[in-house]
Amino acid sequence: MAEKSYASVLEEIQALKKKRRAIILAHNYQIGEIQDLADVVGDSLRLAQEAAKSDAKVIVFCGVHFMAETASILCQDKTVLVPDPEAGCSLADMALPQDIRIWKKDHPGGVVVCYINTAAAVKAECDYCCTSSNAEKVVMSIPADKEILFVPDFFLGTFVKKKTGRKIHLWSGYCPTHIMIQSADIDRIRAEHPAAEFIMHPECGCLTKSMHLADRILSTEGMTRYVGESKANEFIIATEIGVLHRMKKNNPEKTFIPASGDSICQYMKLNTLEKIVRSLENLQHEVRVDPELAARARRPIERMLEIV
Ligand code: 13P
Repeated sequence: MAEKSYASVLEEIQALKKKRRAIILAHNYQIGEIQDLADVVGDSLRLAQEAAKSDAKVIVFCGVHFMAETASILCQDKTVLVPDPEAGCSLADMALPQDIRIWKKDHPGGVVVCYINTAAAVKAECDYCCTSSNAEKVVMSIPADKEILFVPDFFLGTFVKKKTGRKIHLWSGYCPTHIMIQSADIDRIRAEHPAAEFIMHPECGCLTKSMHLADRILSTEGMTRYVGESKANEFIIATEIGVLHRMKKNNPEKTFIPASGDSICQYMKLNTLEKIVRSLENLQHEVRVDPELAARARRPIERMLEIV
């Protein structure tokens, strides 16, 4: 915040929000200043649910592109804006709709479950959507005799496969931010903090080697809630470091140690307060999923929302 004070920018944003009848949704990986001013901060599931039930005219989605697309799919009557149009998701980009069509042909009768970290055009090819907080539940809702194709996150898919024992074919996508968290980091930090609970996100690249060491494997919202409820005072957190902001704010007496200080999503960090001001002022940058595509992409998301 160079020229203007934080307080004056906040005031400007509040006035613009009122004028535009807007709400601000922010993912747990956003910078602290954005989390502090947002109407709702949460994980992918919570933000999708909030978008669906909101009566605002405008949603400013502070997250990454697939999240804003999901909001547009669920709220075709609303204007969905992103502060920075470059905020994408490398994991979502690892699966294309044509790949899924070929994969389905190779596995006739297979049920395709896509992680919410996918483009609308990929969701449109899939049977069920899931997030990190409900992937196990979604998979368990599918008849046991069905083969499952899980796209695009290999590590979340591996986690669900282990938890459910179901026949699941895995796509080989991964999150470059979560891949930064290595099992060697985990071993070292756990040795340095033997009393700390170890909390892991299922996208972590070290999942295959270190999941048996985790006290909990949870979505960003699940972990934020859990650290408040747990009796422990110290936690090792294996996910993007933005999640530590709310954990520290809500639990000032507890200690939170990132499993890797390098686990920073550059896309999530593209959003700034100044860009939110411009977004509300100029109604930019709109993310609108075409109605025909939205209708197809909505089916797997609505199935998920019914299950949870
Ligand atoms: P959560 O749903 O746990 O917030 O995860 C979203 C995500 O994109 C993680 O990289």
